Amino acid sequence: MKYLIIADIHSNLEAFQTVLDDANKMGGFERVWCLGDVVGYGPDPAACIKMLQELKPVCISGNHDLAALDKIDISDFNADAARANRWTADQLSDEDRAYLDDLPEVVWQGDFTLAHGSPRYPAWEYITNAWTATENFKHFSTPYCLVGHTHVPFVFEQEDILVNEGYLGNGDMLVLGEKRLIVNPGGVGQPRDRDPRASYAIYDSDERVIRHYRVEYPIGLTQEKMENAGLPDFLIGRLGWGI
Ligand code: ZN
Repeated sequence: MKYLIIADIHSNLEAFQTVLDDANKMGGFERVWCLGDVVGYGPDPAACIKMLQELKPVCISGNHDLAALDKIDISDFNADAARANRWTADQLSDEDRAYLDDLPEVVWQGDFTLAHGSPRYPAWEYITNAWTATENFKHFSTPYCLVGHTHVPFVFEQEDILVNEGYLGNGDMLVLGEKRLIVNPGGVGQPRDRDPRASYAIYDSDERVIRHYRVEYPIGLTQEKMENAGLPDFLIGRLGWGI
């Protein structure tokens, strides 16, 4: 069975569609695991929710999904994120809200725990270093954990008391073995590793491997929609810079 692993779509329909097309070229997938932040920042929140629903994914909520529902305090969002959040909330129908509202914060699928930020603090914590990863390995019991939130493709590997860390490049392959892993597929709709290409992964449960991919999408089109919607300039610019 092949599982498409996506995170941080962030209302970016062009990136999302391109990832689906590319994943089909890479051998396709039968199931979708979505690690949250379906909305926020980008110009197509409702269309992204609709496209996601059609895939019948296993999906968890991210902090931006909760913020669009007014379910969390956004006082620590920066001004641009807060403005985009209010705009996003205005675009959602009652059905869209109900879909986001039903998403759990953590789910378990076989050998995997799925959490947006971290298994310890699912909505908020960024796993950006080995120390934070070390703490989080204590907070899930499956061999592997999938997270998003940082928008940077990365892997942490537990080895006795040490945690090894590594950036995931386009085409990199992780072979699942004895060692426990925390894997981040990177962001679909707003990559932040200075590579603006959409980022995703495919898990092949027969081969026991996770493959990571990057794909170019029509960023200019997304940026044009954001301009028309009056979304903040920095959020428009960062898509092109990959930050
Ligand atoms: Zn995000």
